[in-house]
Amino acid sequence: MNPLGIFGGTFDPIHFGHLRTAFELLAALRFDEVRFVPAGNPPHRDTPLADAALRLSLVQAAIADQPGFAVDDREVRRAGPSYAVLTLRELRAEFPARPLCLVLGMDAFLGLPQWHEWRDLLPLAHIVVAHRPGWRAPVEGPLGELLAARRTDRIDDLHEAPAGRIYIHPVTQLEISSTDLRDLLAAGQDPRYLVPEAVRQAIRATGCYTRPSTQR
Ligand code: ATP
Repeated sequence: MNPLGIFGGTFDPIHFGHLRTAFELLAALRFDEVRFVPAGNPPHRDTPLADAALRLSLVQAAIADQPGFAVDDREVRRAGPSYAVLTLRELRAEFPARPLCLVLGMDAFLGLPQWHEWRDLLPLAHIVVAHRPGWRAPVEGPLGELLAARRTDRIDDLHEAPAGRIYIHPVTQLEISSTDLRDLLAAGQDPRYLVPEAVRQAIRATGCYTRPSTQR
């Protein structure tokens, strides 16, 4: 049973950095599927600029033509903060034996100790860390200790157990962030070649990221 990749994020908006990462992991780690899970109410950051329904629809538009990509709207439907641990508990109940791989960029991984019940994540899923520009794996502190105990360089370890290992995978470095995209859109610039064309069109149609009242 090949693993299910779970790619959570605010996706405000989704961009080619997310998509290329998911695409490379899908093939390299032999995932059955990468599920994008947009956060309804992301707990560790400012309120997103786009509402959850729009961010979800942008993800749907972005992945529509890619086999092996899927979107999971449970965090958008669920009330309250979008804690990853709740999502993983639900998925584990649905897939009792299947390997689950929570995909995180290195920046997100470094913030893991601030996550709700973060010590409960690894018993539920593996963690796959996509290396991002400018970030290094921690060697000290709780994450350094966790890596020393749980890190593996064997992809097969992600297939042979349902949860519990950490794997760091270098991905093509695309220095794109949603923050930079929001700034660019607020300045009236064109996001062409940073986001899929369908996402660009949807952003343009809603005007969501350019409305002055919603600029940060
Ligand atoms: P923001 O700038 O608003 O914080 P972001 O671009 O980092 O957004 P998120 O939706 O917060 O996007 O990220 C979702 C996940 O995707 C996180 O695990 C993050 O580390 C990862 N990620 C974001 N951008 C990239 C990128 N360019 N390459 C690889 N991973 C990325």
